[in-house]
Amino acid sequence: MLKINRRKFVANTVSSGASLALGSRLLGSPRAEYAVSDTVEKTRNLMQEVLKYRKIDAHAHVDEEHYKPEVNLDFADRLGIEKLMISDFIRPHTEGTPDDFRARNNFVIKCMKAHPDRFIGTVALNPRYQQASLEEIDRCRDAGMIGLGELYNQVKINDPLYYPIIEKCIDISWNIMMHSPIGYSRVKLNPREPKDISLPEDFVDIARRYPEAMFQFAHIGGGIDWEHACKILKDAPNVFVETSGSNNEANMIDFAMKYIGEDRLVFGCDYSFYQGIGQILSAKLTEAQREKIFFGNISKRLKKGGRDVD
Ligand SMILES: [Zn+2]
Repeated sequence: MLKINRRKFVANTVSSGASLALGSRLLGSPRAEYAVSDTVEKTRNLMQEVLKYRKIDAHAHVDEEHYKPEVNLDFADRLGIEKLMISDFIRPHTEGTPDDFRARNNFVIKCMKAHPDRFIGTVALNPRYQQASLEEIDRCRDAGMIGLGELYNQVKINDPLYYPIIEKCIDISWNIMMHSPIGYSRVKLNPREPKDISLPEDFVDIARRYPEAMFQFAHIGGGIDWEHACKILKDAPNVFVETSGSNNEANMIDFAMKYIGEDRLVFGCDYSFYQGIGQILSAKLTEAQREKIFFGNISKRLKKGGRDVD
């Protein structure tokens, strides 16, 4: 989850794009017509480029209010996203009781059942309720879910409460996707962040303790100091760094490539669809690198856990 109201942001983006095209058409002069056909041609070329790549969105959300499944699928259809790894995360500053996370996971299961070829469900849980969380993994796995995510800030990723959960994920080869904070490092931590938010250093700590576990550091575009995060995560080979978020500063992906590399970067949107794809396309990447980031890297992980999406 990110810090701005993404529905509003996406709606604004869509409407401003539409009004741009419409505005030129209304001008009516030959020059304006030329501008329209030029824009249409550029858009067509860009969309061909977008649709050329197979894609898995490694960070997607569903719920009944803000992240409606049909809105996710509408964007995914238009942008050539084959599959979305969905979760209904436990909201920050809430207790995250078993009743809460079970209900959220039930909604994810419902979405998966409605669209089994599109949605890959990942499990929300809270290690403060350790036994219930371990049982939830089994229950959700039986229902076809694969992986944990998006884990939130109820407990730090390197807290010992997580150990049995991570060990279980190692046994079943599940990806573990955890939220990352906003505003940390050379700037001060955003005061709204809870004390148990997982910092990049916490990811490195747990990744070293469990080198065989597979972690996913969520959304470097989510508002963190991404330069700092990439530098810290550079030497944690079992941590994927996922690119989603609505803070899409120029050069972020190029910078991440330098520190994290093409084998550990994974594409995600976190409901910022245009931005998620645009920043990969605008980075200085080869075809093969784009393929790995959009699809190949995460699909390999899913395969280890028993889901072959190829
Ligand atoms: Zn998040």
